Amino acid sequence: FNVPEPSNEPVRNYAPGSKERGSLQAALKAARDQVVDIPMYIGSEEVKTGTTTAIYPPHDRQHQIGQFHSGDKGHVTQAINAALGAKPAWENMQWEQRAAIFLKIADLLAGPYRDKINAATMLGQSKNAYQAEIDAACELIDFLRFNVKFMTEIYAQQPPISGNGVWNRLEQRPLEGFVFAITPFNFTAIAGNLPTAPAMMGNTVVWKPAETQIYSAKVLMEVFKEAGLPDGVINLIYVEGPDAGDVVFSHPDFAGLHFTGSTGVFQFLWKLIGNNISKYKTYPRIVGETGGKDFVIAHKSADPKALATALSRGAFEFQGQKCSAASRAYIPSNLWESVKEYLLEDLASMKMGGTEDFGNFINAVIDEKAFDKISGYIEAAKTAPNVEILAGGNCDKTKGFFIEPTVILVHDPMYKTMVEEIFGPVLTIYVYQANHFEEALELVDQSSPYALTGAIFSKDRYAVEMATSKLRHAAGNFYINDKPTGAVVGQQPFGGSRASGTNDKAGSMINLLRWVSPRTIKETF
Ligand code: GLU
Repeated sequence: FNVPEPSNEPVRNYAPGSKERGSLQAALKAARDQVVDIPMYIGSEEVKTGTTTAIYPPHDRQHQIGQFHSGDKGHVTQAINAALGAKPAWENMQWEQRAAIFLKIADLLAGPYRDKINAATMLGQSKNAYQAEIDAACELIDFLRFNVKFMTEIYAQQPPISGNGVWNRLEQRPLEGFVFAITPFNFTAIAGNLPTAPAMMGNTVVWKPAETQIYSAKVLMEVFKEAGLPDGVINLIYVEGPDAGDVVFSHPDFAGLHFTGSTGVFQFLWKLIGNNISKYKTYPRIVGETGGKDFVIAHKSADPKALATALSRGAFEFQGQKCSAASRAYIPSNLWESVKEYLLEDLASMKMGGTEDFGNFINAVIDEKAFDKISGYIEAAKTAPNVEILAGGNCDKTKGFFIEPTVILVHDPMYKTMVEEIFGPVLTIYVYQANHFEEALELVDQSSPYALTGAIFSKDRYAVEMATSKLRHAAGNFYINDKPTGAVVGQQPFGGSRASGTNDKAGSMINLLRWVSPRTIKETF
């Protein structure tokens, strides 16, 4: 069985007047014109409880596009039972057959469902067309195709040494029990990857998406079904976190957690799992990608224009709602004036508004809670001593949750917007004395508990080497002369350590290996 060698899905550019733009606009309009009723998907059932929550685009708070039905602890138990019920047939299915289903899902997303998943992501999560395309279409398709490739490599691994009447094997069994996937709003690709990666390896899954991503999660469930994923392999539930947690983490068959979300929630769940550890049949796998406070540091030799572009793209694409977003920058004093000029010029060209207008670069942040948190940091910065707002700073939630891309200049590198995760369009800059590069590196390394992504800009090779070595543990994804965002599946496996996660690199063999528990078999003749 030879799976096709994957290559990254080409990104469509939706140029004005193009056929692609026309068909995406039509899908967007069709979605806007209806109110989708979203059930939970448990086994073969579409469960409608009658307890519903309305869904509105974050950039258009009055226009309802859907509603979802939520459940209670009983539904969590049902979903676990459905997962456990589907498990024997699924884990005994030949892995080639499982692979074919995931390749089919990728093809459906690349073809007939592309506009639908992009439109859902644009409306439900307020991503512009290009960001939706990169995320919900290309990255998710890449996750699926590359993971299938890694999966085949795992199953085709060389067996251990045999001989002299002995045959040794290593069997890659799925975990014993079910896997729980908790997924975030900010990437439809991550939401799709977290349940499918364990499923690919023969596990069955209970999936709890962020409430603010349910709208596109429903489209994914449609695609899974159409591709022939058997009922019960991935079960989608919407149940309040504490209720879901109570049932899942006290269940003897809980075998793994695949998580992307905040550091605080992940640490809380880890403790809960620890407290319940003697209840489980097996030690559960805990895989999580959590917060970030991602840095850009420039050396005095850096190119100021490339640096400014990296800052504006890295900080403000998708309103900075990326774990990887550039949110703290350390700029040498000799470059500051020109970097500032380029940066402000770039910001002035960024239009803000709803996703229906393809010319808008900045859209709304996800919800009121996010809006209040982010605007709280901005308001505090406005009155803080020795803190300057260089650009943006306006926040308005009348029509949608709009926050202008905001640049803050600080004189204290430990000021809170420089060290705390904000998860919004806020970039904080500290200007250091150009000759104190080593001290600045020390500051980058020591001033944040996180270690997800980071970047060094320099034309001086010695400075690049010094940064690479001194910042060895400061980022799981380290970029030299590029922005710290936009990891491409198959090219830059993604994940961080310290308070940023378990670093089991999404879209890699490392991640897939967490979802199997090998059995060694020795047979003598
Ligand atoms: N993989 C994305 C990137 O490289 C970020 C994912 C995230 O925000 O969790 O930008």
